[in-house]
Amino acid sequence: METDEAQDYQLETLAVRAGQVRTPEGEHSEPIFQTSSFVFKSAAQAAARFKGDEPGNIYSRFTNPTVRTFQNRLAVLEGGEACVATASGMSAILATCMALMKSGDHLLTSRGIFGATTGLFNNYLAKFGVEVSFVPLTDLDVWWDSIRPNTRLLFLETPSNPLVELVDIRALANIAHEKGCLLVVDNCFCTPVLQRPLDLGADIVIHSATKYLDGQGRCVGGAVVGDQELVGKEVFGFLRTAGPTMSAFNAWIFTKGLETLSLRMRAISDNAQCLAEWLVEQPRVTKVYYPGLASHPQHDLAKRQQTGFGGIVSFELDGGREAAWRLIDSTRLISITANLGDTKTTITHPATTTHGRLTDEQREYAGIKQGLVRIAAGLEAVEDLKADLQRGFDALN
Ligand SMILES: *Cc1c(COP(=O)(O)O)cnc(C)c1O
Repeated sequence: METDEAQDYQLETLAVRAGQVRTPEGEHSEPIFQTSSFVFKSAAQAAARFKGDEPGNIYSRFTNPTVRTFQNRLAVLEGGEACVATASGMSAILATCMALMKSGDHLLTSRGIFGATTGLFNNYLAKFGVEVSFVPLTDLDVWWDSIRPNTRLLFLETPSNPLVELVDIRALANIAHEKGCLLVVDNCFCTPVLQRPLDLGADIVIHSATKYLDGQGRCVGGAVVGDQELVGKEVFGFLRTAGPTMSAFNAWIFTKGLETLSLRMRAISDNAQCLAEWLVEQPRVTKVYYPGLASHPQHDLAKRQQTGFGGIVSFELDGGREAAWRLIDSTRLISITANLGDTKTTITHPATTTHGRLTDEQREYAGIKQGLVRIAAGLEAVEDLKADLQRGFDALN
């Protein structure tokens, strides 16, 4: 399907069809172009390609047809003009910052973003003269007040990890644009199936394709989506020069992952909703964090901004770290791992894993208590997941 036909189709159709360009072989499934370079018909054609006078492939660090299929499909799903695929989610963030920021610029980001993202900003961008500061995700007034004359990018994740807090993307996009900044949203937790930040005014969407886009825990990859100028030209320019490109094989896995993304996100959200409602009933649970619960402080925003509530459910146990570890260790089915976005449900103790490097004070500020447990729902039968967690609760008594 040509990508300019996108407006004629629904997201589920585009996820299966968009971006595919059949070769003369007539293959039904998308092929893998496992080649590093491409040949030219003549020296003149080579010269024209290198000069940019003729479009076409030269070398897979720049473009590759399999990678392009993934990029075009994801661009259409997010409603962006351009997509650049990267070797990982982190290299998507790196490429965005390297392409769009310079020494002396300021980056404003929400607290509690992915740990490696915080590390990239604080330890590496700072080294090259980019100022970084952090604000609470949900407080629009603090975002507004924290923007400086040299602020270039606002960066955030919504819902956040692991407490699933939200920010109003449209309101923040208005703030960013009024102050002359760009809004970058890491859309890893929702994917375009549940939330389309570009429609809400964001300038750039980041993905860790490693998570739900693959959806089966096989490959590491990432993507940047946005307009032709910022992403198609600037971010792509960095990528083709610096080289954290996605491989053709991984692009193929992610392309096929997109085909089932909608089904998976709905099923995963259903499982997470069931688990959240069940967890509320458990005597040892003092608090459940899930945007699909009416008790979530931003439940109305979640209903407005997202078309589903996603797969991440967190809960607090009375009994602190000891209780949390005992519950985790007493499960047999659910995988003990910090990863998410898999068909397999995972369980993790944020205070000693994903947020283990924070100081006690930073963790306190972020609201990550020792009794907090995070579940990333997968696709197993929800009765089996409940039974597995029940083993954990039984072990506490
Ligand atoms: C995993 C993750 C990343 C980093 O992605 P990688 O593919 O591991 O490099 C960035 N943001 C969020 C929200 C993530 O969950």
